[in-house]
Amino acid sequence: MPTVHCKYHHTIPARYECPRCAIALCPQCVKPVPQARHGEVCCPVCNGELDSLGIGNTIVPFWERLPAIFAYPANPTIAIYLAMLSLATLLGFLPILGLLVYLLVFFVILKGGYVVLEETAHGQLTPSQTITSKFDEGNLLPLKQFAILMAIGFANGFVASISPLMGTLLLIAALFAIPASVITLAITNSFVQAINPTKLFAVITAIGWPYLLLYLFLILLSSGSSLANELLLPLMPTWLFLVLSTFIGGYFIFIMFHLMGYVVYQYHEPLGLEEVKEFEAPRPASAPAPEHPLLTEIDILMAEGQPLEAKQRLAAHLQRSNEPPLHERYHKLLLSLGEKSEALEHGRRYIPILLELEQPLKALELFAALSRLDPSFTIADGQQTYRIAQLATDTRRPEVALRALSSFAQRFPGHPQLPAAYLLAAKLFCEHKNDLSQAKKILLSLLGRFPQHPLEPEIRHYLQLVERLEGSGLA
Ligand SMILES: [Zn+2]
Ligand SMILES: [Zn+2]
Repeated sequence: MPTVHCKYHHTIPARYECPRCAIALCPQCVKPVPQARHGEVCCPVCNGELDSLGIGNTIVPFWERLPAIFAYPANPTIAIYLAMLSLATLLGFLPILGLLVYLLVFFVILKGGYVVLEETAHGQLTPSQTITSKFDEGNLLPLKQFAILMAIGFANGFVASISPLMGTLLLIAALFAIPASVITLAITNSFVQAINPTKLFAVITAIGWPYLLLYLFLILLSSGSSLANELLLPLMPTWLFLVLSTFIGGYFIFIMFHLMGYVVYQYHEPLGLEEVKEFEAPRPASAPAPEHPLLTEIDILMAEGQPLEAKQRLAAHLQRSNEPPLHERYHKLLLSLGEKSEALEHGRRYIPILLELEQPLKALELFAALSRLDPSFTIADGQQTYRIAQLATDTRRPEVALRALSSFAQRFPGHPQLPAAYLLAAKLFCEHKNDLSQAKKILLSLLGRFPQHPLEPEIRHYLQLVERLEGSGLA
């Protein structure tokens, strides 16, 4: 089945599909269900339930991942483990114990193989830190596997004694089913299941044609292992051959079990295996992580031509929280929708947030834009209004500063910053608008109203300056 890709990330395999909206979505594009306990997700457009496309859709098929599968045992934990077992074969030179040692080493490697299969099947694609400790746990799977092979042998012998043709056919079928049996044993731990023909048939059909490919790879791998032995044998002394061939044999066994595990991982949904670790597709450079998860949803709604729905959801979210990226997005959205009065109203809320977050230039920018939209635009706090005016003055935007300060006294009667605000306004009238009479009017009124104010000397000083300018006729 060809991989389905995310509608909004064309290179990322999709994980879900919305049957109502008919869109395929990658894990990054789905929306977490609010207050969900088990990480349930829903459609970012219609909020409805999603159909799973299966992790299988996001998993690289095993035939495209062979180098990584071959490299699986090339891991320090596994390599040290195999090296120790290989050295242990030297004990085989002891009298009497000999054969027992080889059998034991083989048994221990096979035990490890089943752990590798099980871990891989659950989505652990490189050996876990604790894998060797799991090798030591008392799994008797190799013994069960041996019993299975014995059972097959007996059954086959029995059938062959009745009909040689049937015996041959049974043998072919049994050989063909061995990987399915190994997989079933690793996953169910059950001898009965692993020899149950209907179960094995179900496993093979769940995997489908790729089972044949798996079979072919397993044959190649086991012949690769024997070929290595044949090449090595004439080249070295027996003891070294024993150590090396045990190591290489173990390496190949782990590859084979890892490969079978990977096939189970790839087909775990048709196989009915649960608790599989979700595969995380790497995010392509062209799709940087959004600043806020809700923004992904908003992007998708916009792409689906639903800006009003996007606006509604952002507004609802902003009633409960104050995340700046959401405010920014909401503001842009309102402007793009031409919602002037809503944009102004939102600005009155957003500018104080930006000032509190110490993003004064952004706050100023927003104030300037909104006061262009509506020259009577104001914010509710006197202190913040004065700060905007100061920022505008410092960044040489006298018009914006004067707009911020206009009717300050009416809006904030008795505000402690009132004298400072009007002194600033007088300076702006004088220095930027060349309006000396307006500046003088403001300064005189300030001196009349606040004769005792700490700013009084500065106000008086500035008044003298304005009067000198007036006298020199420069204005
Ligand atoms: Zn996506
Ligand atoms: Zn939908």
